[in-house]
Amino acid sequence: MRSHVTQPPIDPLQDRLHRPLGSLRISVTDRCNMRCRYCMPEESYTWLPRASLLTFEEVDRLAGLFVRLGVQKVRLTGGEPLLRHGLVTLISQLAKRVPDVALTTNGILLAEEARALRTAGLGRVTVSLDTLHPERMAQFARSTSHADVLLGITGAREVGFPVKLNTVVIRGYNDDELSPLLAFGARHDVEVRFIEYMDVGGATQWASEDVVSRDEMLKRLQCEPGGGEVRRLPRQNMASPAEQFALPSGQLFGIVSSTTAPFCGTCDRGRLTADGTWYRCLYAEEGIDLREPLRGGASDAELCTIITEAWRDRDDQGAVERLASHRREALYQVKRLREDPRLEMHTRGG
Ligand code: SF4
Repeated sequence: MRSHVTQPPIDPLQDRLHRPLGSLRISVTDRCNMRCRYCMPEESYTWLPRASLLTFEEVDRLAGLFVRLGVQKVRLTGGEPLLRHGLVTLISQLAKRVPDVALTTNGILLAEEARALRTAGLGRVTVSLDTLHPERMAQFARSTSHADVLLGITGAREVGFPVKLNTVVIRGYNDDELSPLLAFGARHDVEVRFIEYMDVGGATQWASEDVVSRDEMLKRLQCEPGGGEVRRLPRQNMASPAEQFALPSGQLFGIVSSTTAPFCGTCDRGRLTADGTWYRCLYAEEGIDLREPLRGGASDAELCTIITEAWRDRDDQGAVERLASHRREALYQVKRLREDPRLEMHTRGG
């Protein structure tokens, strides 16, 4: 533990469901250099005005306040965070006061940035890799940078990052790649996490029949040639979104089953958009504007009060409510997303 990292409070801040404020996902840009169909399937988007984006000093100050209130993990996201110019500078600032700084990236720019990110104090990297087939990525995410993503993964490993892979599994797109992706993971010493297709803001083409559930993934893995019993492992960290499993070979992997088996009961996550709006749930319609008081001269104590009162008042269980809803279809249509781009997953950082 870095000596000058802010110590968590004695009496942890909890919400109405007794969930602590344990981690914060910070989106540093809503822009992306890919168009994954489960996140950005549309031709055009309403972007956040550049002047509205928090500066690195503002992000660092807010992160410091969240750490003072109990946050131990900060994950930098986007859009694609490596598109934000000078991200290394922000990471070196955050690393001085946040115990655990991680990054989720699509990997396209990772190979060239990996060493500088490591030197700046970044601790962990998660790369989104949904397929091993460049032509599928070109068709599904409108990107021809598959080779760069693979270089990013090996580049991150070479400078010593522990790397995880996030794979959103969609029926008819990549659900035939579970074992090949696990084999890729074993070859490159990276841990694979399969994610159920989620009906979050922006997934305008979401349909329940395209979801491959955790249970179906496990059944498939056990029935594949050379398959065998897949063991469910006890949860090390209750707040972690992924359940852990072990193949007969002992290889570990994870599944994030937010769509068919939500884990809201232990969710300790908040999300900060690049323009300073704080959401207490990925599905929340309303957020708390922290930029205005921040730029309006609010003191640290005043900002902490806003965050504390809002968290204490939190009772969000968005995925549980979605699962309970009878007519489950895409959460928002395009018109609604144009009205408020913060409803988009790529603005909330997933
Ligand atoms: S849906 Fe909301 S409450 Fe549930 S796990 Fe996701 S962010 Fe947490």
